[in-house]
Amino acid sequence: MPTSALILVAAGSGQRAGGDRPKQYQQIAGRPLIAHTLENLVNAMNFDEIVVVTAKNDPYIRDTLDELKIDATVTNGGDARTKSVHEGLKAISRQSIDHVYIHDAARPFVNAGLLRPLANALKTHESSAPALPIADALKTKSGESVDRDTLLRVQTPQAFHYAKIKQAYDSLKKADYADDIAVAKAAGMTIQFTPGQARNFKVTYPEDFAKAENMLQKQTYIATGSGFDVHQFTEGDTLWLCGVPIKCGYTLKGHSDADAGLHALTDAILGALAAGDIGDHFPPSDPKWKGQNSSKFVDFSRFMVNKRKGKLQHVDITLICEKPKIKPHREAMRARIAELLELPLTRVSVKATTTEKLGFTGRGEGLAAQATVTIQLPVEGAS
Ligand code: MG
Repeated sequence: MPTSALILVAAGSGQRAGGDRPKQYQQIAGRPLIAHTLENLVNAMNFDEIVVVTAKNDPYIRDTLDELKIDATVTNGGDARTKSVHEGLKAISRQSIDHVYIHDAARPFVNAGLLRPLANALKTHESSAPALPIADALKTKSGESVDRDTLLRVQTPQAFHYAKIKQAYDSLKKADYADDIAVAKAAGMTIQFTPGQARNFKVTYPEDFAKAENMLQKQTYIATGSGFDVHQFTEGDTLWLCGVPIKCGYTLKGHSDADAGLHALTDAILGALAAGDIGDHFPPSDPKWKGQNSSKFVDFSRFMVNKRKGKLQHVDITLICEKPKIKPHREAMRARIAELLELPLTRVSVKATTTEKLGFTGRGEGLAAQATVTIQLPVEGAS
């Protein structure tokens, strides 16, 4: 396998896009544009080294990299794109890099379907870039027709044999080129064009942000999960329900703290992720969960949500019992669950009902809890 480096060019001021900060840091679907681009790049290919080229004293890039847990070298670019890419090439520290992929931060929809053909092309050519045919009729400003069949719209990422493109940049004949393929061409490197994608567009104008936002939202779906749990009353003093202690002169029987509310919630979250149930992850036969505070189980389910890059949207819990009275504790339960899940209070519901003295809950032998959660998840393979 050839080793590869990524250079992400993010040094522009993006003035055509409007807004109060460079376009690569404007928010799309809750995150800076550049975060979507970087995340999609690292999901699509394993790079051995990553260099991000930014404007001087860029105040945002470190936070973005930290949040994505991406290890990258940050280097300052120049006034023109050509200079910025040259700085990026110089910042690559490994001598053994075979291939370098150069991408613009303003194209967030980069994916493996673009990168794989580029890698293949580098087996036979010294450079490659995705390109699209032109559908519209082309004219000069004086109205003469231009043969569109001889023309291509070229995108990034563009890929190169590292040593060759580095040499080309080290001996540039002029200060600014249209793109990196232009530099390769000027240096006599061989080029292969690969299929481009319309969705790999460059966010340039203010209206492009709405389009990108719309496309990113279509990359997620809402999953619903349900959970149900029962525990029996037994002798004691205090019981735990939805993370709140209730001093009522009896307790709930169970291996952990027997908090049926948090158990149902944990199962609902695992259900939305199709990740088994609480017993799979915390077997009651395992002594280490004895007397355990059930918030541990909720923490674990949240970790699973994060692992899947999901976002918890809403929780609704129903407690089914004749006793204890839930109402005096309901707001404390909502607050505790909101805290555990880092959700606003408006997204956490706790309700209670009886079963009209029918069944085991009606006879006061125990209580039941059910929970429904909704989680926004990325569509499989969307990035
Ligand atoms: Mg339980």
